[in-house]
Amino acid sequence: MLAFLLLVTLALASAHHSGEHFEGEKVFRVNVEDENHITLLHKLASTTQIDFWKPDSVTQIKPHSTVDFRVKAEDIFTVEDFLERNELQYEVLISNLRSVLEGQFDSQVRATGHSYEKYNTWETIEAWTQQVTSENPDLISRRTIGTTFEGRAMYLLKVGKAGPNKPAIFMDCGFHAREWISPAFCQWFVREAIRTYGHEIHMTELLDELDFYVLPVVNIDGYIYTWTKNRMWRKTRSTQAGTTCIGTDPNRNFDAGWCQIGASRSPCDETYCGPAAESERETKALANFIRSNLSSIKAYLTIHSYSQMMLYPYSYDYKLPENNAELNALAKATVKELATLHGTKYTYGPGATTIYPAAGGSDDWAYDQGIKYSFTFELRDKGRYGFVLPESQIQPTCEETMLAVKHLARYVLEHLY
Ligand SMILES: [Zn+2]
Repeated sequence: MLAFLLLVTLALASAHHSGEHFEGEKVFRVNVEDENHITLLHKLASTTQIDFWKPDSVTQIKPHSTVDFRVKAEDIFTVEDFLERNELQYEVLISNLRSVLEGQFDSQVRATGHSYEKYNTWETIEAWTQQVTSENPDLISRRTIGTTFEGRAMYLLKVGKAGPNKPAIFMDCGFHAREWISPAFCQWFVREAIRTYGHEIHMTELLDELDFYVLPVVNIDGYIYTWTKNRMWRKTRSTQAGTTCIGTDPNRNFDAGWCQIGASRSPCDETYCGPAAESERETKALANFIRSNLSSIKAYLTIHSYSQMMLYPYSYDYKLPENNAELNALAKATVKELATLHGTKYTYGPGATTIYPAAGGSDDWAYDQGIKYSFTFELRDKGRYGFVLPESQIQPTCEETMLAVKHLARYVLEHLY
């Protein structure tokens, strides 16, 4: 009996990290040409449990696009049969999710604690925020802007040389729990700031003239859940009366056309907008901080994955922002700069037309608060690995994204308002 329990415990423990839950699961990419194809996918999604990777839900599928989704092992035959019978063109992006999950920890770096080239647990990131602050008191300070649903402190790092009335850029990572490359970038950004300040002219100027507010993980509870229980979790971990379903999509929870389009009112859906705008402690804390610092915050950057896109308002409506021409030119120049390092191609444009309409996003909200430069980054890749980007891609992804963020910051500094 004892031996049996021990075996079960060991099996469960290894399942967490090797992702054995995902044995035999596949990720499909379907080509969608017309409305007829969309109707078919709605039908498939209503009869089979499907996890949409891109777009975020079945309701956001557009004609002339591709749709990526994950299918459980027991449903694969049904899904492939359905796609073939209806002559939908598709390819298999990931043929066994378990083996790709095992491959994500492929960093050659040997480190037991924090590493910029590995995915770090929240516990490690939390300790890192403390350490990086105490080791760089002239450049970094740490504060808590709120607590998560499960009661964890939300740390915000202020990165910059002390000075009076400095303009600031706010950047957050880790809205969606499974987008692991995102928190990795926020950490990388802080490291590059302290590593190159005083040595590299552009970074030195940026930190002398600007402050960067960096929120390394917004959805901490969800992030922890992806490490301990379900690697594919997306939402927060809040509960509410009347449902057993857990979590709200934090990027549908802001007061920007809240829940009007591209979001769900069903608590069980992955794009659930929550019972009200800012119902989540995490989004409320973020919004409160920005509201209190509106006079200094000149740009808002939010880091997601995947699909290699740079988006700006609006997503809750097809209307264009007042400075659309400027944002378009800035995005164009920024993705060009990003591509100089590894040739990584990004598309860009207003959210609604470039990907799909979605209300309640933080970028639209920040823009409507008066922050003229508001962008969402969707980092690597374009679907080969999707949310399970291998650690070996952390460095090249973060290096190229640094070029983009530095370019943006320099522009903001030259166009203060
Ligand atoms: Zn996201």
